Amino acid sequence: MKKQKTIVVIGGGIGGLASASLLAKEGFKVILLEKNQDIGGRARFLKINNFVFDRGPSWYMMPEVFENFFKLFGKKRKDFYDLEKLKINYRVFFEDNTIIDVFSDLKKNIKIFDSLEKGSGKKLLKILQKAEFIYKSSMESLVYQDYKDLLKLVKPKILFNLLKFNLFQSLHSYIKKEIKNEKLQKILEYTTVFLGGSPYNTPAFYQLVSYADFKLGIYYPKGGMYSIVKALEKLCKDYGVIIKTNAEVKKVKILNKEIKEVHTNKSIYKTNLVIVNADYPYFETKIIPPEYQTYNKEYWQKKVFSPSVFLIYLGIKDALLKSQHHNLYFTKNWEKHFKTVYYEKKLPEEPSFYWHVPSKTDKNMAPKDAHSVMILVPMAPGLFLTKKDEESFYQKIIEKFSQLNEIKNIQDKIIVKKISQAKNFLSDYNATKGSAFGIAHTLFQTAIFRPKNFSKKIRNLFYVGQYTNPGVGVPPVLISSQIVYNLAKEYLRKNEGL
Ligand SMILES: Cc1cc2nc3c(=O)[nH]c(=O)nc-3n(C[C@H](O)[C@H](O)[C@H](O)COP(=O)(O)OP(=O)(O)OC[C@H]3O[C@@H](n4cnc5c(N)ncnc54)[C@H](O)[C@@H]3O)c2cc1C
Repeated sequence: MKKQKTIVVIGGGIGGLASASLLAKEGFKVILLEKNQDIGGRARFLKINNFVFDRGPSWYMMPEVFENFFKLFGKKRKDFYDLEKLKINYRVFFEDNTIIDVFSDLKKNIKIFDSLEKGSGKKLLKILQKAEFIYKSSMESLVYQDYKDLLKLVKPKILFNLLKFNLFQSLHSYIKKEIKNEKLQKILEYTTVFLGGSPYNTPAFYQLVSYADFKLGIYYPKGGMYSIVKALEKLCKDYGVIIKTNAEVKKVKILNKEIKEVHTNKSIYKTNLVIVNADYPYFETKIIPPEYQTYNKEYWQKKVFSPSVFLIYLGIKDALLKSQHHNLYFTKNWEKHFKTVYYEKKLPEEPSFYWHVPSKTDKNMAPKDAHSVMILVPMAPGLFLTKKDEESFYQKIIEKFSQLNEIKNIQDKIIVKKISQAKNFLSDYNATKGSAFGIAHTLFQTAIFRPKNFSKKIRNLFYVGQYTNPGVGVPPVLISSQIVYNLAKEYLRKNEGL
C-alpha cells in the first residue's frame, strides 16, 4: 500500500535529504528533485586542485542531534563518519591585536575570563547554567514542535519555563548586565551570527547556543561537513529514494486543494504529497499561485532577513601558524558593523569576519604544506556586488587576513581562489535576496511565529529546512525533517487511508 503512495521532495539540501530518507524508510516511494547538479544545497563541497572546501557550514555542534537522527534508522553516527572534538573551539582576534582562545576545557575559559575581568569566570558559569536550563527545556518541549495545535503547549511546566527564558530582552542587553569587558561580551554574543541574527535583534534566550559552544563542544567530522551529506545520501540510496539532479521544479498542478503533479522542465511527476526544501518565500510566491499561498509577498516583505555572506575559498601555500581550525576577527565597532549588515544596503567599512582552516585538523583537505581556507564575511541581504566591487572587497579582506596571520607576500602564496556572494546564493539556490540563512531568529520569527512546516491552504504540502521550525543550522534542519516526517505520516494516514 505504502509503496503505491508517492512523495515528491523538492530540494536536495540537508532538509530535503533527511526527510526523503526518513519517509523512504517508512516504505513510501520518494522522488527527490534537486535543481543543481549536486546535492547538499548550502552544505555542498568544492574541490579545486586537491583543495577541499565545505561551501557553507563548518561548525559541527549539538552532536546528540545527529546521533538521535541516525538512531531513527537503527544506526549510529560512527557508522557513517568519525568525529573529533576540537581542543581549541576557536581563536578570536581583536582589533588591538589581542588574541583569545576559547577551549573545550571550561576551567581554562574561566581562567581567561577572570584574567580579563575579575569575577567574570563565576559570571560565565552563571550564564552557562541558565543557558543549559533553556537549552534542555526547549529541547524537551519546544524545539521538536510543529506548532499546529497550540493547546499542546498550554502546560504548566512549559509556561513556567517560558517565564524564565528572558523573552523580551536582547542578548546584548542581557550579557552586558553580567559582563563589562567588551571582548568577553563579544565572545558570548557572536553566536547570534549562527542564527542569522545580531546580538541586538536576537532575544536573550538564544544564549542557549553558548551552552552548545562552551559545554557541549565543537566537533569536526572527518572529511568535512560534507560527510553529513554523504551519510544522508547513503540512507536515501539504501531505502530507495530516487534522486534526480538538474531537476528544477517550475510548476505544480493543484486540484481540490492538493498538489497532484510537480513539473520540471523535462518531466512531470504525479504525487500524493509534496515536501518543499527549496527557499520558502521563493516557492510560496513564485511557484504556488496567489490563491494558495499561505504567506504572500507582503508577508515576506515584513520579515527580517538574515545577512548574506561574502565567501572566499583559498588554497594557500603557507603554514598559517597564527590560525586555528575556527577563527574569528572582531572589530571594535561591531555594533556599527551589524547595523550595516542588517539595515544599510552597503558593505561594512570595517568588517568583522570568520575563517575556517579544516586542513589544520584533517590533512586530506589540502595538499602537503598548504591549507584550504574559507573566509566568511557577513554582508547585507539583497546587496548584489559588481565584479569590480567584489574584487576590491576581496582585496580588503585578504589584506586584513594576511596581517592577522602575519603572512608576507600573500598574493604569491595563493594557489586557489574562488569568491561567492549574495548573487550566487540567488542563482545557486533561488535564495530570496541572496540571503545565506533565510530569515533571522528575532523574537517574532521564532517558534509559533516562524513560517509553519505545513501549508494552510494546500493539504498535502509541507515545508522543511532553515526557514521553518526550529530554524537555521544543520542540527535544527535535521530536527525540522523529523517534524515534517511526522506531519507527512499523519496526513497520509488520515487522508490516504494508510
Ligand atoms: C556560509 C554558510 C555557513 C554556515 N555555517 C553553518 C555552520 O557552521 N554550522 C551549521 O550547523 N550551519 C551552518 N549554516 C547553516 C546551514 O548550512 C543551513 O541552515 C542548512 O544547510 C540549510 O539546509 P536546508 O535544507 O534548509 O536548505 P538548502 O541547503 O538551501 O537546500 C535547499 C535546496 O533546494 C534546492 N532548490 C531550490 N529551488 C529549487 C527548485 N525550484 N527545484 C528543485 N530544487 C530547488 C537548492 O538548490 C538547494 O539544494 C551555514 C550556512 C551558510 C550559507
